[in-house]
Amino acid sequence: FPDFRFRKAGYQAIDRICDYYYSLQNKPVKSNVKPGYLREALPVAPPTKGESIEDIANDYQDIIMPGLTHWQHPSFFAYYPTASTFEGIIGDLYATTALNPGFNWICSPACTELENVVMDWAAQLFGLSEDFYNTTQVGGGVIQSTASDSALVAIVTARSRYQRLHPDVPIDKLVVYVTTQTHSLGLKAGLILGLPVYAIPVRAEDDYGLRGHGLREVIERDKAEGKHPFVIVGTVGTTSSGAIDNIDEIAEALRDHPDIWLHIDAAWLGAAFSCPQYRARCHLPTINKVADSICINFHKARAGPFSSTSWGLVNFDCSAFWVRDRKNLTEALDITPPFLRSTEGDAGIVVDYRNWGLTLGRRFRSLKVWFVLRSFGVEGFQAYIRKCISLGEIFAESVRNHPELLELVTPPSFSLSVFRIAPGAVPGLPAHELNELNELYYRRLNERNELMLTQTELNGVHCVRFVVGVQRTERIHVEAAFGICLETAKLVTREFTG
Ligand code: PLP
Repeated sequence: FPDFRFRKAGYQAIDRICDYYYSLQNKPVKSNVKPGYLREALPVAPPTKGESIEDIANDYQDIIMPGLTHWQHPSFFAYYPTASTFEGIIGDLYATTALNPGFNWICSPACTELENVVMDWAAQLFGLSEDFYNTTQVGGGVIQSTASDSALVAIVTARSRYQRLHPDVPIDKLVVYVTTQTHSLGLKAGLILGLPVYAIPVRAEDDYGLRGHGLREVIERDKAEGKHPFVIVGTVGTTSSGAIDNIDEIAEALRDHPDIWLHIDAAWLGAAFSCPQYRARCHLPTINKVADSICINFHKARAGPFSSTSWGLVNFDCSAFWVRDRKNLTEALDITPPFLRSTEGDAGIVVDYRNWGLTLGRRFRSLKVWFVLRSFGVEGFQAYIRKCISLGEIFAESVRNHPELLELVTPPSFSLSVFRIAPGAVPGLPAHELNELNELYYRRLNERNELMLTQTELNGVHCVRFVVGVQRTERIHVEAAFGICLETAKLVTREFTG
């Protein structure tokens, strides 16, 4: 593949990427293809002879693109949107060119050192305690692929610390704590590690956040039964409703149990820590004092009924993970066969990031963070987060203004609103039929191509989530989305009641 053809294909790709982003809002946010469409469109075997890059790029446009859901569409309000910025794309392009796996410092000093530096920049951006800075040589930050990896690393590390503290405790007595609102990453980690996971129930009255007394009771009960809780995942901004566990009370409950590791999953909401005015509401001062580890996804955006901004502004994948004491990580994860030894590693004067995570090879993710943080600056980053939150508030306010038809199911959490057709829309409807009505509501919303939302259930209440998190989402998109939600609610209520 000669150099000049690479240049030509590269220029064309950049042009097409720009065209894609600028024409996004004219496309339907969702793909209309049927399952199996791509298998029918593609040959069953790879080509015998090489094909031209132009043909492949054209087929990407013509065949692959129609099957894409446009997560960067300004009317994507589902899940938590993924971040995308041109700065992140450029950073990733260089990263894929340098292709440094960066598992040891000696593999590529810049790769390790840039990660070390940008994680300290990120710790400052999010207002984390200096305890977590790499410069302390005690705490430190590392980029994992996803929040699920970060949680798995935290739980493996917590288990290893607990076993060092209590060498006689049989492994089958260990238990992981999450809540009924924790992301499934807790259950997944338990599955992988063969550990039981107990989901502590949370209540609607507590806005689905864990309270200290709930935790205290469970610890006492389990310890009396001979179990050994060794880690709890506290969430700041749950997936379903943006709930914030009461970390102040959790810290108080854990005061008598310093051997229980506190991992904070702030995968989505952590980006809001960049704005000092939100930190207290998110319990950051306590997190700074007591958390053993914390995860904030740079790639996470908010997904809801319609949304298209990614909070962290860095293209997937980029999960920032900090620990208060890096020794716990390396004690748990350091395996150094002779072929991975290096003079600097042996001397302990460098960080070898392979000992801070699950994999050996690692992508050069810090480059895209560096491009984004330098290009936006702290102020640009903050302005972006504030904009998402204010767009989320516009949606929540619109719901509040139509109590005859709609209601917020939980207090809005930053850029996320969870709402449904209100009981008053069809007076006297039993709870299960109200749920059926709201399931139908979501189905009808989902059938529309103008926006993309996700549904959820909170303690048996069926509801719809609306998240703002795409960089290209503006007020007009939010207002248009609310208009669609309102109109659909009217139609569905009529359809339901015959
Ligand atoms: N934690 C929370 C609160 C989330 O909302 C999500 C995903 O939406 C995750 C963790 C999982 O993130 P990842 O895909 O990075 O594993």
